[in-house]
Amino acid sequence: MGYIGRFAPSPTGALHAGSLVAALASWLDARAASGRWLVRIEDVDGPRCVPGADTQILAQLTDMGLLPDEPPWRQSTRGDAYAAALQQLLEAGHVYPCGCTRKAIAEALAARGHTRARDGEWVYPGTCRDGLHGQPARAWRFLTRSAPHEDTTLHWHDRRLGAQQQDVERAVGDFVLRRADGLWAYQLAVVVDDAQQGITDVVRGEDLADNTPRQIRLQRALGLPTPRYLHTPLVMAADGHKLSKQNGAQAVDTRDALGALRAAGAVLGLHHTAATAADWRAEAVSRWPTILASWAAASAAPSTASTERTP
Ligand code: GLU
Repeated sequence: MGYIGRFAPSPTGALHAGSLVAALASWLDARAASGRWLVRIEDVDGPRCVPGADTQILAQLTDMGLLPDEPPWRQSTRGDAYAAALQQLLEAGHVYPCGCTRKAIAEALAARGHTRARDGEWVYPGTCRDGLHGQPARAWRFLTRSAPHEDTTLHWHDRRLGAQQQDVERAVGDFVLRRADGLWAYQLAVVVDDAQQGITDVVRGEDLADNTPRQIRLQRALGLPTPRYLHTPLVMAADGHKLSKQNGAQAVDTRDALGALRAAGAVLGLHHTAATAADWRAEAVSRWPTILASWAAASAAPSTASTERTP
């Protein structure tokens, strides 16, 4: 099968120094593989989207010469496909309705001695696995363990990080596919769209690596192929956290295309100079296999790295 890659930004703001690295890496990986490169606007969480951010992102990519091979898809138009996938999972016994409020989840966990959520997300205690307990259905959850002693540890390979594993049930619990407010969860939307677009290679920021085991579980439950994964280095903000809008990330001024490409490229280990943006891109495509080889060699060395979440 030929290579098909994608860049899938959420239009919550213009591209900043961090998101540009993911965009450039996915473009380079596709071009170096003589593959196709798609852009998908992940506007599934309407309330978080910023009007005009999608147009701004597409304009920034155009400025930098990162041009998709097809018109971008928009997740806001894809509700029917997500509903069909949820129905398929329901019929196969992989999902169940949940009537818990956030408060009820926090109380159930506190009763078990868990007092802190990680990244603002609780590991769902499984309250509604055996029924709604008289509550109305609010959300739909994926059942991470269907047999009593099933090992829910998932092993996967990342082209930069190497061997990874996560016990999905213990680390994240039965995760939401359709939220109480009726919105589709990122996990379901991304898996359905990656499959329908025939994506063979997901290249995205390392902050998303932790989502991969959930997505692979969903792919398997839906009978979909699993793409290869490559999670790229993050740009850190002064506060030591991943650069994001919340800690002051600025939109990249892509009118200086060469400057923007060189800055994003440096994060990926590309330090060449060029007279024009087009020359820089061509040189970057030819150097990309060397970058990939250095990541593969580094990750093959013994290490303790994993995406295991510690509760
Ligand atoms: N829409 C996600 C984000 O902007 C990225 C999803 C993905 O690449 O899988 O964080």
